[in-house]
Amino acid sequence: MANEVLLVSKETLTNMKQYYTTNLKSTTPPGSFFAAKKGGVNITAYNSGKVLFQGATSQNEAAIWQEKATLVPAKKKNSSSTSLNVPLPKGFSDWSVIGSDEVGTGSYFGPLTVVAAYVDQSQLALLKELGVRDSKEMKDSEIIRVAKDLITFLPHSLLNVMPEKYNAIQPTMTQGKMKAILHNQALGHVLEKIKPKKPDGILIDQFELPATYFKHISDQPKQIKETIYFQTKGEGHHLAVAAASIIARYAFLKGLDELTAQAGMKIPSGAGSNSDLVAAKLLKQGGTLLLGKYAKLHFANTEKAKKISGVR
Ligand code: MG
Repeated sequence: MANEVLLVSKETLTNMKQYYTTNLKSTTPPGSFFAAKKGGVNITAYNSGKVLFQGATSQNEAAIWQEKATLVPAKKKNSSSTSLNVPLPKGFSDWSVIGSDEVGTGSYFGPLTVVAAYVDQSQLALLKELGVRDSKEMKDSEIIRVAKDLITFLPHSLLNVMPEKYNAIQPTMTQGKMKAILHNQALGHVLEKIKPKKPDGILIDQFELPATYFKHISDQPKQIKETIYFQTKGEGHHLAVAAASIIARYAFLKGLDELTAQAGMKIPSGAGSNSDLVAAKLLKQGGTLLLGKYAKLHFANTEKAKKISGVR
């Protein structure tokens, strides 16, 4: 079946609903603004601004609105409309946005840290001035300096899951689900903090498909769904994600420092062979119980460290 997907503004959504008044369906799928059937074309418009046209003449129907919309390229095969990396609305980088990002998911040692931060439109220039940019391009010393500044004035939520807690939760859920739940919680905290103000949008640095994300948080008591956008390399799309990323990285480094102090030896970042050697030392000192205070035990490094140390 032919498919077209458009991304439109709230205003256009309203206009569309008006246009299809006589074609509206009585039932609408969850999350949708309206559903209509005109000729052989099914039209489903979502609150997010995404509009799906399905049917033989969907292209013609979508063409009516094309001028007011961003065309979302059709995905190759085997994917639902929800898995599309929807382009952000025009001018998004100038909006007031809550951004969120996580650090530590690929590091054997240290915490998993998720941060959401709100950046008001009026603060964008200041953030640039402070040197907020892609944290991967920043030295640790610079990240620490900038983060210390940011946390004094940006409304944010920092969720730091140290290894001991991580290892207690991890067997019951995938890392993806854990991340999704943490992002959802952090976003909820920031929305509370900035009340009654509302952001123009929320941008999550994409770590899984949006459909998977929403499935992962579906059992959560409070689910943040409104005006959420996902973007890989999110820090390049809005400074709020860059700021969240810097704060998260700072907290992660602090976590590693604390663990280093506790262990009395350098606890490294990453998951390379150096990590195996440090883990082997900890195993010799106190077995898996001790190692589990420092490292994410489900990583393959644990098995390697067991081989090196001879401790099972
Ligand atoms: Mg990320």
